[in-house]
Amino acid sequence: MSLVVFTELGFYCPQADVYIDPLRKVSRAIVTHAHSDHARPGMGHYLCESSGVEILKLRLGKGISVQGLAYGETIYMNGVEIALFPAGHVPGSAQVRLSYLGEVWVISGDYKTVADGLSPAFESVQCHHFVTESTFGLPIFHWRPQMEVFHDMNTWWQRNAENGFTSIMLGYSLGKAQRIMKYLDRNIGDVICHSAIADANMALESSGFTFGSWTEAGKAVVDFSSDSLSRSLLICPPNALNGPLMQQIGKHSVANCSGWMAVRKSKNWGGVDEGFVLSDHADWPQLIDAVSASGAEHVYVTHGFTEVFSRYLTENLSLQAEVVRVGHWNRTEE
Ligand SMILES: [Zn+2]
Ligand SMILES: [Zn+2]
Repeated sequence: MSLVVFTELGFYCPQADVYIDPLRKVSRAIVTHAHSDHARPGMGHYLCESSGVEILKLRLGKGISVQGLAYGETIYMNGVEIALFPAGHVPGSAQVRLSYLGEVWVISGDYKTVADGLSPAFESVQCHHFVTESTFGLPIFHWRPQMEVFHDMNTWWQRNAENGFTSIMLGYSLGKAQRIMKYLDRNIGDVICHSAIADANMALESSGFTFGSWTEAGKAVVDFSSDSLSRSLLICPPNALNGPLMQQIGKHSVANCSGWMAVRKSKNWGGVDEGFVLSDHADWPQLIDAVSASGAEHVYVTHGFTEVFSRYLTENLSLQAEVVRVGHWNRTEE
């Protein structure tokens, strides 16, 4: 039997009796990262990368049974050697390497190959079988260097500050928000975080991640019309766009920061004034590079534009590539 099989519950290693990112309740789960489409509640026991333990507890509950494993550290489950390697996706994200009787699998979870300065950079891991995502697996996706995007972001913030507009930046609360915060220019003004992001910040700071100064938007009414607050930048998760916090803010400009901004008109889109194209997933050339660098002959494509990417790998790189479906993935940047 194959070392890893694809089941209704997710990726499963029968020899080790462990699931990777399972979709429903199982006794033992290895979780690649704490985003909600990978880390689900109800597992008997969790294994994740050490720096991801606190954020996993924040999302799934303080009482979960969880073991942290540092990058590169090895454990054995019924003879299967298991190790985690940086996926470069968000803080605490890991690729899972499983090795048994000379057969090596890597399940990459979500990943990006360029270093973002926040999370440890992606490491290519040699394997025979590589499971890759393909969230942005179309040739149209090609990211600019992140420092160019952050330059544009700070320019937008500066212009708003000069015009007395509070800047509101939408970004996912785990990963994207902290990546943005890391590069915001505090000479322009203060960085204020929605409570959901503040909670994630505290969990990540306690795990050693750093991303600059910030304050939490208090539960009391904040006077965003005052001079200093109108120079501030407020970071919110996308689902807070029409929430109560927004109602308190006077003149403002809203920007969304997402890889999907590459294919959406940034103007007049759902109350968003500006779009910044920045993703925590690999773009098309990075996906191809990651698959090539793994040395794998067998590639399994999940999550996103699976058919297109799989066909490309088969036809152009002569790999044994196939689409795998484990349950029903939500298509989400998280
Ligand atoms: Zn995902
Ligand atoms: Zn993710």
